[in-house]
Amino acid sequence: MKSNYVTEAINLKSYNLNDADKIILMYSKDSGLIKGVAKGIKKPQSKLGARMDLLVANTLQLLKGRSMDTILQAQTVNNFRKTREDFDKLMLSSYISELVVNFGEGSESASKDIYDLLYKALNRVANAADKKDALIAVIKFQLKLLLIMGFCVELDTCLCCRERVLDEEMFFSSQMGGIICKECNETLGVRLSMHYKIRDFLQAMLQFDFDYESDYDRKATEKVCQVCFDLLDEYIKIHTNKRQKSAKVLKELVTA
Ligand SMILES: [Zn+2]
Repeated sequence: MKSNYVTEAINLKSYNLNDADKIILMYSKDSGLIKGVAKGIKKPQSKLGARMDLLVANTLQLLKGRSMDTILQAQTVNNFRKTREDFDKLMLSSYISELVVNFGEGSESASKDIYDLLYKALNRVANAADKKDALIAVIKFQLKLLLIMGFCVELDTCLCCRERVLDEEMFFSSQMGGIICKECNETLGVRLSMHYKIRDFLQAMLQFDFDYESDYDRKATEKVCQVCFDLLDEYIKIHTNKRQKSAKVLKELVTA
């Protein structure tokens, strides 16, 4: 049996194990969420040091254990330095990280896609010129993560009548996860109205490659981005409620 393995992973959370050691919850490229013990991390002469800080991407060598693996070596790939100097960037990166903690359980088969998306989003937030730019990265992350996890937001056709929505005005249901046309909403009564320009913007954020900067990226305002972020966040909160509860149980097990 092979007891050592190498993977790339991003630190998402850490828990105290005892006076000297910590458990690091990471998202890895090869096997999704993993936990590793960072031995002696609380001692000043620790070899792992700042590499085990939250929101750092490392290439790791781990020793397989019965219940938990031990981190033998870490080499930093990216510490997203500019995020650590900016409150907004730190909050948005923590949000991204929290989503991966909540969504990550059972995502092993998609771990490479999720890891790449997580890395790109954290990197784009770190290097964002302003808050709008950082929000765009988070919106792309929200939409693409939902797509990978099978909770994609419906932006083309009305969730009731399944017709393409071509009117300027439509409605968005966070409960149902998509758009509702004006006619259907007369009986449904969803309160959140949505302009087609917002819908088109979200469509572009979902469809284009993460790194592709379209006209939509350039023309968006911070206000529009904030509206889209809030709308997606509400949908995510409704659909991850169950997952968040199981993540909480995991945390309690780890810290017990
Ligand atoms: Zn309809």
